[in-house]
Formats: sequence, structure tokens, C-alpha cells
Amino acid sequence: MKIAILSRNAKLYSTQRLVEAARVRGHTVRVLDPLRCYMQIAPGQFLLRYKGKPLSGIDAVIPRIGASVTFYGTAVLRQFELMGAYTPNGSDAVLRARDKLRCHQILAGEGLGLPVTVFGDNPDDTGDLLGMLGKPPHVIKLNEGTQGTGVILAENAGASRSVIEAFRGLYANFLVQEFIAEAKGADLRCFVVGDQVVAAMRRQAGEGEFRSNLHRGGKATPVKLSAAEIDTALRAARAMGLGVAGVDLLRSKRGPLVLEVNSSPGLEGIEGASGVDVAGAIIDFVTSAVRPRGRSRAKT
Ligand code: ADP
Repeated sequence: MKIAILSRNAKLYSTQRLVEAARVRGHTVRVLDPLRCYMQIAPGQFLLRYKGKPLSGIDAVIPRIGASVTFYGTAVLRQFELMGAYTPNGSDAVLRARDKLRCHQILAGEGLGLPVTVFGDNPDDTGDLLGMLGKPPHVIKLNEGTQGTGVILAENAGASRSVIEAFRGLYANFLVQEFIAEAKGADLRCFVVGDQVVAAMRRQAGEGEFRSNLHRGGKATPVKLSAAEIDTALRAARAMGLGVAGVDLLRSKRGPLVLEVNSSPGLEGIEGASGVDVAGAIIDFVTSAVRPRGRSRAKT
């Protein structure tokens, strides 16, 4: 099988592990920088070229699209889809997951638990908006932030208002959430592949920090998920339409709350903490999804 990994950097741990796992299983695999893929769009005809040569015959694409290249990266992914390649995470699903606001609306629509979230546009509404949320502390998040950047804890109403004013001044989109204190600076990363949580880890924030992101010094340890946590993670990934997803949960008094559904979850932390060959699980899932399609195509 011919697999392409859309990634800006072939040397990244996650990219290398996917390449390795695909080769071990006897597949042909290529890492393509999405920004070097260019395309022709004509009625009924979709072409892609890479560094002067055509890209064709690719059976499956695994997108590892960074937040900074979401727009172009998903256009390239969509072109692959239009050319008949399989992808576990389609361009629409990747776009949905990148927008935190939209993600929360979809999850809440499915009845999944999440921290109460508010957002609004007009400064005149800020007081009422914060009133809808209840007492501080509040967590204020940039809509398109990643790895904990743009996630701020405001301890009192004055701090919430100042941060909101600052974000508005920068024309940034943001949302405001209740602070889940009982999570105690820890979250759960559930790695979903198809209809299974293949690995999980608990991330604990460092001293004096409430964000547990590994990039912010969070420490990862293996964790056993409850049935409710597994169910929530699987439903969240399914609601977003993602075959491969990193679902972040907070443990709260009212059960698991979804924080985020990541469409390009990193492999290094989770493989290190859980000891699971997550890259292998992804390749196995992708190749098993492609085979039946290949057979039906051959018949026609
Ligand atoms: P990012 O996408 O930038 O990682 P998150 O929404 O996942 O942003 O927030 C980063 C971290 O901050 C989370 O992993 C969690 O530890 C903490 N956190 C985020 N929202 C809340 C909240 N409402 N209550 C308590 N902790 C939170």
C-alpha cells in the first residue's frame, strides 16, 4: 500500500514513528510537506504535484497538519480526498477540531460533558456574559491556541475583564470557561484510533501551573481509564468525525469533561508514558480501512 504522511518536518518523532511503523508492515511510505504540494482544480479532474513531479496512486493519507498551516494543509488534504485517497481524518473534520468554539458546540450537541463555556463579541455584554458563567476563577482561551499558549487563569472578575479586553483589543477570538478546580492541574489524554482508545496518559501540571500540557512542563504517567472516560473519548472523536484523535478530558465531580479533541495528536508523550505502539495502531487502522475500498474498486 502507498501511504503519504502530510507533515512539515520528517524528523519529528511522530512522523518518524509513523514512517517506521508503515515500513515494518511492508508499505511504501512518503513524507510530504503540505506546503510543497500544489494542485490543479478543473471540472472532474484533480491533480497534485510535488517538487516538480506528479503525485498519484496514493492509497491513504495521514495528515499531521500543524495549526499554523491549517488552511493550506486542509486544502491539500481535500485534494487527496477528491483524488480518491483514504484518510482517517478528513479535511472537514480537521477544520472542525481546530476551532475550539465549534468543537464545544458539536460536543455539547451530542450531550457530552464539558466545562461550561461562554463567548460573546460586544464589550457591552462582558458583564452579563461573565454572569452566565458564575463565580471566578475563569479560564480564558484563545480560540485557535495550542499546547496551552493563550490559556489563562483569571482568579477574579477584574482579571477576567482585563484579559477579555486585551484579547478584544487584539481582535482575537476567545472563549471563557468555568475553572475545574477539582482536576488539580491534571488532565487525561485518550488516544483514539477507530473505535478504540489504544493508549492513555495522565498529565500533571508542574508546581504553580494549572496547564498540564507536556510542552509547559507537565509530567505524563500511565493511567487506567474508567468505562465512562473511554465512552466519552470515543463519542467525542466520533462526533468530530475523526478516526485518529487525542481527546483531552478533565476528571470532575460531575464525571469526565471534554477539553479538546486534537486531530494531530503527538505520539512521543503517549508512547513514552503508555508503552503502546500507537504508530502501529494508526497504520493498522488506516490499512484495514483502505483494503475493502481497494477490492470494491477493483471489481468495477
Ligand atoms: P490547548 O489546546 O492550548 O492545550 P486546553 O484547552 O487543552 O488548551 O488547555 C490547556 C490545559 O489547561 C489543559 O490541558 C488543562 O490542564 C488546563 N485547563 C484548560 N481548561 C481548563 C478548565 N476549564 N479548568 C481547569 N483546567 C483547565
